Amino acid sequence: ALDLVAHNASLSDEPFRVNNAFRLDPDPRKVNLSIGVFRSDQAAPWPLPVVQKAEQIIHQEQDPYRHEYKGIIGDEGFLSAARDLAFGFDKTTHQQDANRVVSVQAISGTGANHIGAMLIARRFRPINVWLPDPTWSNHYTIWDFVGVRCRAYPYYDEVAQSMNLEAMVGTLSTQACKGDAIVLQACAHNPTGTDPTRDEWKKIALTCRQLGLIVLFDSAYQGFATGNVDDDAWAVRYFFGQKLDICVAQSFSKNFGLYGQRVGVLHVALAEPSAEDAAAILSELTHFIRAEYSTAPGWGSTIVKRVLKDPELRSQWIQDLGTMSRRIRSMREALFRKLVELQTPGSWEHLLTQVGMFSYTGLGPRQVSVMRRQHHIYMLQSGRISLSGLVSEQLTSMQVQSSNVSYVASCIDNVIR
Ligand code: PMP
Repeated sequence: ALDLVAHNASLSDEPFRVNNAFRLDPDPRKVNLSIGVFRSDQAAPWPLPVVQKAEQIIHQEQDPYRHEYKGIIGDEGFLSAARDLAFGFDKTTHQQDANRVVSVQAISGTGANHIGAMLIARRFRPINVWLPDPTWSNHYTIWDFVGVRCRAYPYYDEVAQSMNLEAMVGTLSTQACKGDAIVLQACAHNPTGTDPTRDEWKKIALTCRQLGLIVLFDSAYQGFATGNVDDDAWAVRYFFGQKLDICVAQSFSKNFGLYGQRVGVLHVALAEPSAEDAAAILSELTHFIRAEYSTAPGWGSTIVKRVLKDPELRSQWIQDLGTMSRRIRSMREALFRKLVELQTPGSWEHLLTQVGMFSYTGLGPRQVSVMRRQHHIYMLQSGRISLSGLVSEQLTSMQVQSSNVSYVASCIDNVIR
C-alpha cells in the first residue's frame, strides 16, 4: 500500500505536467488530450454564456462591486443553493432532512476533498481509506496528507472495459475494517468514464452500510455525465435517502466553467445527527477553515448563487450544460466512427458507453509514449483522454481550427497495429 501511495503521489501532477509539455511542443500537429477542462469547437476555453450574463447582472446590481469577506463558513445563500442542487431539496423537502446537512464553502472540489478527509480522519479515525482503482491521483495525495492509509478497491475491469462490481464488493467485504472511509465518485468517473448502474449503486450502498463505512462522495462533474443534474446526483441522493453517513465534496469548476475561481462546498450528512453532532462538526470545520484560508473566495460563489437562485438563469445554465455534454458526446461518436472506419483492431464500443469528460482508451504506457513522441498527441499514461481536446470535421467546415479527430484516430490505429 505504501508503494502505491508513493507511486500515485509522484503521478499526482501528471495532467499539469503533460499539459506543460504540450504547450512547449512546437509541432503544428500537436493535440492536447491531457487536461480535464472543457474546450469549444475552436479548441478554446468556453466561458459559459450564463456566467457572462450573471456577471453583468451582478455588476449592474452593485456598482462598483465590493469584494468584501464572506463569513468563515462561506456565503450562506450560495451554500443552501449548492446543497439543494446536490441533494435535490426543494420546497417540499422536510426540514428534518435539510437539517441533516452541514455545509461549508471550500477551495473548490480539491479543497472540499481535503477538508472532508481532514474531518473524517480526526473525527471518525478510520484505519484505511478505500479509493477506486484507478482514480483521480490527487485522492492519494490528499489522504496521504491527512495520515490515513490508502487502500485501493477494484473498480474497473480493463479486459471487459466495464465496472467490476463483484471484485469491488468482494475486496471491501473481506478486507475493509469497520469504520473505514471510502471515496466514491458521484458520476463521470475520472479517469475511466465508467459509472455504476443504479442497481450497482444500491449494492454498493448496502456494502457500505454492512461494513459501517463512512462515505466521501467526490462530485466534480454533476451535469457532465448525462447532461441532467438530477440524474447525475442520483447516487448521492440515494445514499442520503438510505441514511448512510456521507460527505459530499462538490465542485463547480467544470459545470460552471469556473475553474480558476475555486468554487466548492463540503457537505456532511450524517444518518441521524444530534444537534450536538452538527454543532461539533461545524465547529471542527470552522477551525480548519480559519487555519487554512479564513474565508473562501467570493466572486465565483456569488455567480453560482445568482444563477441557481434565478429560474431564468438556471434554465440557461441547464442549456449551457447541454451544449457542453452534447459536444463531448459528439466527439466520442466521431472518434468511434473513425476507428471503425479504419478497422482498428479491438472493440471501441467503450468510447460510446463511457460518460463524462474522459475515456479510458485501453492504450498502454508504451503506446501512450509513442503517441506523444512520434505523433505529438498528449494523453495520460493510463490511456485516459479528455474528449474535449478533439475537434471534428463537421464542426470545422466554418471554423478556423482544423479538425484533429481523423489524425488522432489514425495515430491510435498506427500504435495499436
Ligand atoms: N475530483 C475529481 C475526480 C476531479 O476530476 C477533479 C478535477 N480534476 C476534482 C475533484 C477537483 O477539481 P477542482 O478542485 O478544480 O474543483
